[in-house]
Amino acid sequence: MQEAKWVHEIDLPVKVVTGSGALAKLPEVLEVLGSYRTLALLTGPTVGPVVGKRVESSLSSYGFEVHTHTITASDAEAVSEAESFVREVGAQLVVAVGGGKVIDVAKYVAHQLGLRFVSVPTAVSHDGIASPAISLKDVNGYPVSKFAKPPLAVVADTDVIAQAPHRLLASGFGDIIGKITSVRDAILAKKIKGEYVGDYSLALARMSAAMVAGHAEAIAKHEPEGVSALVEAAISCGVAMAIAGSSRPCSGSEHNFSHALDLVYPDKKSLHGEQVGVGTIMMAYLHGLNWRRVQRLLQTVGAPTNCEELGIPPEAIIRALLVAHRVRNRYTILGEGGLSETAAWRLARVTQVIP
Ligand SMILES: [Zn+2]
Repeated sequence: MQEAKWVHEIDLPVKVVTGSGALAKLPEVLEVLGSYRTLALLTGPTVGPVVGKRVESSLSSYGFEVHTHTITASDAEAVSEAESFVREVGAQLVVAVGGGKVIDVAKYVAHQLGLRFVSVPTAVSHDGIASPAISLKDVNGYPVSKFAKPPLAVVADTDVIAQAPHRLLASGFGDIIGKITSVRDAILAKKIKGEYVGDYSLALARMSAAMVAGHAEAIAKHEPEGVSALVEAAISCGVAMAIAGSSRPCSGSEHNFSHALDLVYPDKKSLHGEQVGVGTIMMAYLHGLNWRRVQRLLQTVGAPTNCEELGIPPEAIIRALLVAHRVRNRYTILGEGGLSETAAWRLARVTQVIP
């Protein structure tokens, strides 16, 4: 018998529950997942007293032993605190109830301790709610990218997510709109570098961007269909990464720009998805795509489209553009040599990112 050329192994969430009132299903979801009884519930300072408490009491009433820890930052110190907590309480499973930061930290801590985690997003500020990709900063502010298992389950209550601050949802929209260029970068890497990337994962990533683009106005108003589209698109992105076995379909030059910005301007107040959105405008221009449409979509949702709205000085945007090609070993439209300084200024000005 001939040996199979490709052995493709895919880890996916066992259960995804989304929609209005989904949170009430969490105890039942955990019961069917197996013999997890001792849980570490990681939550955030704002959401903890409201949603975290609610989850804690409903899980306790089902007989789960729940230990709650509040994560206040996503820096190395907060991560190691959360890790010690989860280890000390002898948790068998990590349950993350919170926004992007909480999910990121919980995913990393679970991975470090060889545990699985359940994702209960209270906002969609990035595409990580269902993904196996871990993105954090080390003590020096350098991006740490790891690939773990995806969450064992995702319980995304759209009623809860609709209550999240608008800025978070607009940021999630920007991160997902970024798939317009990340998919193009993956295709380019396939053509130029012969890199393998499955068409199915690219189709899923592309579809996620199309879904949120089609619901931009509903997302802007936190209408139920808009919030559902955002949640489902983020879940699709997670599945795309799980299928690809890397963040490749969902993270290209627009993400390189965002990571570069984190490095060159660490004092920034802008969110990951906001930076990715602005990066997508510029990378769409480089790819010869309709960058004005990207700009318009971001404006519709109320996400930043220029340096002023990001709160970042023009010089930092340029510095980020100049080093973006080498923040990660990933081929994109930025090539191996990156942009020249003249080209970087021109790109940022033409796309109205810099006045
Ligand atoms: Zn992202």
